Amino acid sequence: MGTKDTSTMDNNNSKPNIAFIGLGNMGAPMAENLLKAGYALSVFDLSDAATKRLKQAGASVAESPKDAASNAQVVISMLPAGQHVHSVYLGDSGSDGLLAELPKGTLVIDSSTIAAADARTVAEAASKLGIDFLDAPVSGGTGGAVAGSLTFIVGGDAAAFAKAEPILAVMGKNIFHAGEHGAGQVAKICNNMLLGILMAGTAEAINLGVKNGLDPKVLSDIMLQSSGRNWTLEVYNPYPKVMENVPSSNGYQGGFMSKLMQKDLNLAMQTAQDTEVETPMGAKATELYASHTVENGDKDFSSIIGRHDVSLLS
Ligand code: NAD
Repeated sequence: MGTKDTSTMDNNNSKPNIAFIGLGNMGAPMAENLLKAGYALSVFDLSDAATKRLKQAGASVAESPKDAASNAQVVISMLPAGQHVHSVYLGDSGSDGLLAELPKGTLVIDSSTIAAADARTVAEAASKLGIDFLDAPVSGGTGGAVAGSLTFIVGGDAAAFAKAEPILAVMGKNIFHAGEHGAGQVAKICNNMLLGILMAGTAEAINLGVKNGLDPKVLSDIMLQSSGRNWTLEVYNPYPKVMENVPSSNGYQGGFMSKLMQKDLNLAMQTAQDTEVETPMGAKATELYASHTVENGDKDFSSIIGRHDVSLLS
């Protein structure tokens, strides 16, 4: 339990072995980029379909998080929500999870989007065992994960951040040190609250134009060159067939599930409430996604446009 020192990682310029846990829409392409860059990867996911993809890409598939980390100096996780992160690292009792199995000096990077308080809880438990923990949520979507151009928003010690940076640079283009433990998650939910507002607003504007006789592509091109320009219009248009290779042109499959956007909006609202900060636009986006996810939780978050015209979702 937290005794063997692995701080010799990267000796002789060799790359550390990495355990990667959570191979979904984001984790799979991120792990694939690490393999392409020559890192040895041992992977674990509850889904066989997810591990099969990584096995084909050259990773070794483990039977459990502990098994995946047995020969690793670095652990990376990309899990849906706080409860999954808690269960993997802390286990049911709070002290029988993966952290208890890791040697001292292991670097743990959690890229899931979770509550800052949950990230701080895991960081504190890790610190007691001599393990470096970073919260390192990402922005950039599945396109960014595939292209290796994600933005990493990191919270934790500067020394651990320095160790993580070359690894994160394989999967991302912009790597920010936001501050101490939890700071990465706070920055991430501010970003995603804004993204939820932008997606709901962009869907609403395109629908207004279409219902008044405009072609959605023509309207999108106009807004892209006008003051309504934003990330959703640039790379993630919610209207089907306006853009290629985005979830709206693929039956809203893949991408960023509405239920995950809903989770992030709830995290933002909780943070706002705890700190007595007003977020009326965020509250409205939360309300819209709450009703949308009842039927469409597994569809990409751009499917929010279906609130205006349900035929777009079929
Ligand atoms: P996903 O649901 O596609 O993938 C999650 C994976 O974790 C699944 O393969 C699931 O089987 C696995 N998993 C769940 N519990 C597990 C456990 N206990 N042990 C091992 N594996 C387990 O989700 P995603 O879209 O890849 O998102 C992952 C995280 O990244 C979320 O926190 C999300 O909010 C965040 N995020 C997603 C996007 C996006 O565009 N999809 C963008 C930025 C951030």
